[in-house]
Amino acid sequence: MPQAPTFIGRLAETVMGRRARVLGLAEPAPGFVEVDLRAEAPPGGWQPGHEIQVRATPTQGRRYSVRTVCAHDPEHVTVLAATSADGPGTRWILGLRAGAEFTVLTGRHRPLYEHGAPRLFLGDGCTLGTIDAYAGTEDLVVVEVPPDAVRPLAGPRPRYRFLPAGPAPGDALQDWLEHAAEDGELAHVDGALLLGHAQSLQRQRRTLVDHGILPRRAITTKPYWATGKQGL
Ligand SMILES: Cc1cc2nc3c(=O)[nH]c(=O)nc-3n(C[C@H](O)[C@H](O)[C@H](O)COP(=O)(O)OP(=O)(O)OC[C@H]3O[C@@H](n4cnc5c(N)ncnc54)[C@H](O)[C@@H]3O)c2cc1C
Repeated sequence: MPQAPTFIGRLAETVMGRRARVLGLAEPAPGFVEVDLRAEAPPGGWQPGHEIQVRATPTQGRRYSVRTVCAHDPEHVTVLAATSADGPGTRWILGLRAGAEFTVLTGRHRPLYEHGAPRLFLGDGCTLGTIDAYAGTEDLVVVEVPPDAVRPLAGPRPRYRFLPAGPAPGDALQDWLEHAAEDGELAHVDGALLLGHAQSLQRQRRTLVDHGILPRRAITTKPYWATGKQGL
């Protein structure tokens, strides 16, 4: 529900809303904001990868994902947001301050469908929180981010491979994927999660299937944004 009349947004908040308060904000890399939250838990409790929705404006909802849940405090969660877009969601994130209170919309956690192990994760900056939530130590993780974010993001994630994004979304990932497919670097993967830019996911899936690396059923795709679209 990226766009809805104000009264529908209010109704959704009444039914699915949880109160949340910003405990702190950090900038782990240029173009990224990590939001530290205390938020009332939904049924079943918060889980890494839990999807939430916020009302960025009275009529515009935007979705984000829980990156971590504190082991000692199940209502203390973090969200990692990329700030490369220029829409209501990004402006809302950039406007947050410690102590701010708002309502998050969420329900019981519905995990992404995951197939096989080890898996290939491909994503861009806005999917990094989700990838952190799901990826295991054996998985092959490749993430496309703005060039000046590569080094600060890679430091704490030595197992991930970060690619500097070019002018067109998904091109750096596609380039890497085609080389990896030809070089046999993907021979051991048993499943894939492709997250982020909708048009890029389709290209990536086609490459994996056409090179005979994975069957379609072993590939999960989850679009987070699309060229020419506001909100998803
Ligand atoms: C299930 C789900 C979970 C998500 N979880 C996260 C998360 O944990 N962290 C996170 O940062 N984002 C996440 N997103 C993406 C996030 O909702 C949007 O990318 C973000 O809110 C941008 O919204 P906006 O209002 O600023 O831009 P929009 O109004 O959506 O779009 C404005 C313009 O920016 C472009 N655009 C949109 N998103 C991006 C982008 N990421 N990079 C470059 N250009 C973009 C659009 O094509 C459009 O031209 C998630 C999305 C979904 C569907």
